[in-house]
Amino acid sequence: MASPLVERLAQLGSSARTAVEDERGQTTFAALLERALRVRGALLAGGSRRGAGEAERPSSLEGERILLLVSPGAAWVSAFLGTLLAGGIVLPLSALYPPAELEWLASDAGVRRIVTDGELAAVAAPIAQGRAVLRVEDLERAAPGRDAAISDIAAGDPALLLYTSGTTGKPKGALLTHRNLAVQAELLRAAWGFSDHDLLLHALPLHHLHGVVIALMTSLLAGSATRMLPRFDAQRVAAEIARRSVTSFMAVPTMYQRLFEHVDRGGAPGFAAGAQALRLATSGSAALPVTLAERWRDLTGTIPLERFGMTEIGVGMSNPLDPGARRAGWVGFPLPTVEARITDDAGNAWAAGERPPGERPAADPPAPGDAAVARGELWIRGPSVFKGYLGREDATAAAFQDGWFRTGDVAERSSDGRFRLLGRTSVDILKSGGYKLSALEIEEALREHGAIAEVAVIGVPDEAWGERVVAVVVAAPGREAECATGPLRAWAKERLAPYKVPRESIVVRALPRNAMGKVVKPELVKTIAAGIA
Ligand code: ATP
Ligand code: MG
Repeated sequence: MASPLVERLAQLGSSARTAVEDERGQTTFAALLERALRVRGALLAGGSRRGAGEAERPSSLEGERILLLVSPGAAWVSAFLGTLLAGGIVLPLSALYPPAELEWLASDAGVRRIVTDGELAAVAAPIAQGRAVLRVEDLERAAPGRDAAISDIAAGDPALLLYTSGTTGKPKGALLTHRNLAVQAELLRAAWGFSDHDLLLHALPLHHLHGVVIALMTSLLAGSATRMLPRFDAQRVAAEIARRSVTSFMAVPTMYQRLFEHVDRGGAPGFAAGAQALRLATSGSAALPVTLAERWRDLTGTIPLERFGMTEIGVGMSNPLDPGARRAGWVGFPLPTVEARITDDAGNAWAAGERPPGERPAADPPAPGDAAVARGELWIRGPSVFKGYLGREDATAAAFQDGWFRTGDVAERSSDGRFRLLGRTSVDILKSGGYKLSALEIEEALREHGAIAEVAVIGVPDEAWGERVVAVVVAAPGREAECATGPLRAWAKERLAPYKVPRESIVVRALPRNAMGKVVKPELVKTIAAGIA
């Protein structure tokens, strides 16, 4: 089967509508595709080992990994699409990575060619040893080549190599196929109602799923326009929203947090009215604190649309587009074609309402009145699930069981079929005094405390308890004393079961976060354990 992605791009290639807006202006779909075909031709010409003429030019890069280190904007997209159309695999990376990290990723992926631009050429220089460095500006000037008809790319061919966010350990390179990308973009277009009337404000990093697939590919393949900012900057994003020129916005929870901090400083006139005028604002990559969701609702009348995704599966669950049907703290329902299963410790699926007899639930039983009916590890199956980790057959084999991808996340399903995330088995499900606790649940409760600006709950190894529940807190300005162990425990005891109350509270200036704004808990546990010991 031919690549559905290539077919869709071919359709869009005749559109005179705006595809991308960046610091240089607007680029239509037709112009973008024309530029991408030139990049394709140049990559294919350069791919010929013999350096031979047109006649001997290969018709496909056959899965060569091309590292993309280009500033966000139309040139990034043309380099990205040009590589895909040439049968190559794009490895997008961040210019913010230190050289050692870039080198590790480039070697892990077996990269021989890097595409960069005038602005980022210096970032590529330290990893140029043994690799060709090409400028997208030069590639876009090349002749498109005679073989402009793209026919030999199959739906199952790999298209994109995305490294996981490295929240729980060393990042792993996940291979996504042409079919994966087309399916994921189409599911989100349909679920979130993207059309050629939309203009998406894009301020997410392009080297992770959220920025490149969920935001960019969904918008692009839906025929919507995308305004690409060089980076997330609360002032700039607030100003764009206040100008009411965009229809939609996608963000990670920390971006909402930074926007509110900016608003609180009085720096965003017109922001509330602009935010109210948005057709859609989404959140993902990490749990959206209910306090932030409610803050957005106070401002705009609706909570953001929260959804759950992973590099390996795309978006699995999403709240409904209808704001009235969303539920704060929950990630919604599985998208069409996504099969979701909650499993017990032995890997058996839990049917609605069932609990394995005689076993302690994976976490505490749901509170009375709470509609949760099953709790355990979340497994996913369907056409959006990735092909495997590059060069890691063992990790790939370990991640799949009976055709299902084991997410490593613990989730809860309610009687009406909604899902809620309780955290990762490795860092968020704490084992303390014989109980299994969800760090995310405890964090959610602690955020109700007005003196807590940010919080991460971790398990620190402890002889008596197995793991000791520790809250690491960023205090609201001037309110550090209220976050100290004594007062915080007294406050928490009123609201949490005794075994969930943190034994200690440690006030820090900032939490260690990765490019997606996620708290890197293994790092936090290491520093806190070392500090306490
Ligand atoms: P690594 O796999 O390298 O440790 P990572 O899992 O953070 O990093 P990603 O694939 O970017 O890498 O993130 C997927 C994870 O993000 C999910 O497994 C889940 O834990 C978390 N996540 C994403 N969206 C949500 C959400 N809405 N609520 C809670 N968690 C979420
Ligand atoms: Mg992961």
